[in-house]
Amino acid sequence: MKSKGNNDLISVENAQEIIFSKFKKLQSTQKKLIDSNGFILDEEINALFDLPNKNNSAMDGFAVRHEDLEMNKSLRVVGRVGAESITDYIIKKDEAMRIMTGSGIPKGADSVVPFENTNNNPHKGNDFPDTVLINEIVNKGDNIRLSGQDYKFGETVVENGMLIDPAIIGAIASFGINEVNVIRKPIVSLISTGNELVMPGEKLNDGQIYDSNSFAISAAINSSGAECKMHKILSDKKEDVDKLYENCSQSDLIVTIGGVSKGDFDLIRDAISSKGNIDFWGINMKPGKPLAFGKVVLNNKEVFHIGLPGNPVSSYVCFELFIRPILLKMQGMKNIHRKKIRAKISSDIYNNDGRRSYSRVSIKKHNENDYIADVYKNQGSNIFSSLVYSNGLAICPENCKVIKSGDELEVILLKD
Ligand code: AMP
Ligand code: MG
Repeated sequence: MKSKGNNDLISVENAQEIIFSKFKKLQSTQKKLIDSNGFILDEEINALFDLPNKNNSAMDGFAVRHEDLEMNKSLRVVGRVGAESITDYIIKKDEAMRIMTGSGIPKGADSVVPFENTNNNPHKGNDFPDTVLINEIVNKGDNIRLSGQDYKFGETVVENGMLIDPAIIGAIASFGINEVNVIRKPIVSLISTGNELVMPGEKLNDGQIYDSNSFAISAAINSSGAECKMHKILSDKKEDVDKLYENCSQSDLIVTIGGVSKGDFDLIRDAISSKGNIDFWGINMKPGKPLAFGKVVLNNKEVFHIGLPGNPVSSYVCFELFIRPILLKMQGMKNIHRKKIRAKISSDIYNNDGRRSYSRVSIKKHNENDYIADVYKNQGSNIFSSLVYSNGLAICPENCKVIKSGDELEVILLKD
């Protein structure tokens, strides 16, 4: 096959445009609230009532009338309320009622004096002293949590499109809601290819290497809120590659790793063509040039296939640029891109082959508005340590042969 010059490669932006345009927000599904962590909410949640729903005590202590409080004065204790009970009793002059955290404030009372500010202690049994001496006077209204202080009836509690987290789950549960509408998670079939690959945990024979990429990409898929279905490693044999699409028809996306370059055993492009068609192959970038994008028809359903290059850094960088955004888009997220900053690079970067390069850098804050991008020493596409070290990708423009130390580049931040 004729070798491809850079002119035949499409730009990163063009590749992103093509890929991103093919994916849209997935359908809504009802989910038990307890299982909804990490999903995107597909409805607005409004307060069904004032929260708290009654004025209540913030402390264990005594409900009193503030005007009766004097240092070392005794008040008559007229009863006790727990968090679950409501009393009709109206507190009158020089009276106090034992009250526990969360209990409704009895009528007549306007303040709560904590046990600590009295001569009384908590009493577990049914008996408690019938007087209480106040040692420290509180302000009027102290230790009372007002109804509606957290959310007012009808107020927005969670906006549509928010990522559900534990705090949001708690806020929704406070209104007695136990089911929510969420966007279903994209399902991604992930398949590593290569005669040399062995699953971590198994014995490594001569010539073999561990399939590290599918572990990294699977974790990245799950971190993007999608569900990764990891398939068995496929060898590069034609009869094995023919089985590539088994059990993939229910997925929203098929991602393969490796076998997509120009080697003798690279059969992924043939596989895509045999079941569908390729939109493009080859992006003007480094690492990550040999990426294939196309779609296949499985059980009368079209499923998109992204063939990632096999080199670990290439596949990871391509995941960041082309896959993470569509996984977020499918979940209905508005902002599908990583944050970018400008940073001064710490050492020269050479970029001689006219491709856009993504250098792995570690971002350090120099001063308030100034960042340094520490360029990792080895930028090889097989160098996993460059990814472990880095939290950013410095974007070196296509036709810029050398970027000098101290020059500013745009950097994609890989970790939020
Ligand atoms: P390929 O794109 O299949 O030619 O692979 C390019 C390089 O990446 C080769 O050195 C492969 O051994 C390596 N490679 C491919 N797939 C994986 C994988 N899943 N894990 C680790 N290395 C891989
Ligand atoms: Mg291979």
